[in-house]
Amino acid sequence: MYHYTKHFINGEWVESTNNETIDVINPATEQKIGTISSGTKEDVDKAVKAARAAFLSFSNTTKEERIQLLENIAREYEKRKDNFIKVITEELGSPVSFSEKTQYAMGLNHFKEAAKVLRDFDFSEQREHSYIQKEAIGVAGLITPWNFPTNQVATKLASAFAAGSTVILKPASQTPFAAILLTEVLQKAGVPNGVFNLVNGSGSIVGNAISSHPDVDFVSFTGSGQVGTKIMENAAQDIKKIALELGGKSPIVVLEDTDVETAARTAISNIAKNTGQVCTAGTRIFIPKAMHDPFVEKVKKLLPEYPVGDPKDRDTFMGPQVSKDQWQTVQDYIQLGIDNGAELIVGGTGKPDGLTTGYYSKITMFTHLDHNDTIAQEEIFGPVMTVFTYDTLEEAIELANTTIYGLAGYVVGKDPKQLANVAKRIRAGRITINEGKADFSAPFGGFKQSGIGREWGDYGIEEFLEIKTILGMPK
Ligand code: NAD
Repeated sequence: MYHYTKHFINGEWVESTNNETIDVINPATEQKIGTISSGTKEDVDKAVKAARAAFLSFSNTTKEERIQLLENIAREYEKRKDNFIKVITEELGSPVSFSEKTQYAMGLNHFKEAAKVLRDFDFSEQREHSYIQKEAIGVAGLITPWNFPTNQVATKLASAFAAGSTVILKPASQTPFAAILLTEVLQKAGVPNGVFNLVNGSGSIVGNAISSHPDVDFVSFTGSGQVGTKIMENAAQDIKKIALELGGKSPIVVLEDTDVETAARTAISNIAKNTGQVCTAGTRIFIPKAMHDPFVEKVKKLLPEYPVGDPKDRDTFMGPQVSKDQWQTVQDYIQLGIDNGAELIVGGTGKPDGLTTGYYSKITMFTHLDHNDTIAQEEIFGPVMTVFTYDTLEEAIELANTTIYGLAGYVVGKDPKQLANVAKRIRAGRITINEGKADFSAPFGGFKQSGIGREWGDYGIEEFLEIKTILGMPK
């Protein structure tokens, strides 16, 4: 049982100003696995004060000192590999193989990448008549979701530390223990007192206190559009800079030269990965009309290769939803699809056979529905996909772009010209062609209602910087 009723402020664990706690549930067992403190505005005030006090000296550290710090963090993080995998599997229900290959690895890669990028990063530039200097933005508030407990936190921390900014982190209350383990990493790595502060608690109290705090200079938020709007409203009161990483409803465009098995596997893995709780998940698939029936048959045939069940089992592909609420949301969307007359290819409401305990959903695909239907337009954040057929690629691209979101997109096929053409025309921040290898140096973020700003690599660091021009600088 994990029991953390303190916050990490100014380099030490301090008592919360509140006795109330929040229970954390293992979604696979439905059992309580621990508690965290429900922080208050006063706790946030203390953390902001500590971050402000540490800012002057941390922002004046050299690039080399910060590279060293990031490398120390990566080393300490690696030492705790097994702990990270265990904690993420328990609090999120992420299958142990996914916790290792993706969840653990992504967190680590952000620290390594930031150290690497920093080596060639120029904080100043001499132009003919001006000197341009980039300096740390100040105190940053970081608010993160539960679906990638180390990735979301690590990308923000790595960029903030690389830039020389100090931070207050509020992780999601459903998955706080990975962030607490990360706190141990930061302590051991020698992050100076006050540079990193952690306040646990609810979004409505702690998150709200951070985004409305007059002494927070920048809020970097990842989460839903609804909360993103609130962050923006709060930040507007004192013209605070914000970066928002929000939701998606990403398209997968399948070219006619694609083999049916590739199309079916791309579809299944896109919606089942992390139980569909992936902001970049491809959830609307566009396939040539002639491919529809063979595609449907192939999905049915391949589905048993993607087992749903106990996250501790290395063969499990898909675990439970993170919480009962999230499970209910997914169920409601599936029921809505059925009620509106969409045709089920696989899945449906209820839990998969044999899984009575745990918030398990069925991998679900709908076909023969209108692209304007709610389940084709709203982010479900569960293993639910909608399938559409097209006659011409023009039609597919137009529908692919008919969404309020623009986070990601996928193109599957063989013809290089067509692959590049479709990739360039999808209005979204990250397009993957076929297998497209991951690149932690490349910017990550969304068009339209998927967000504002970019994370990862040099673009991520830029978000935590202010730009100053000096005219008449003595040379
Ligand atoms: P959420 O918006 O409910 O919560 C995100 C964080 O905000 C949590 O820490 C929460 O406690 C906090 N919060 C809640 N209310 C708040 C308030 N009033 N003020 C300040 N903070 C508040 O999102 P979630 O359910 O944790 O995560 C799922 C969402 O996150 C999905 O929409 C998903 O697409 C999005 N997401 C986006 C990305 C991306 O990089 N674009 C990545 C992962 C998840």
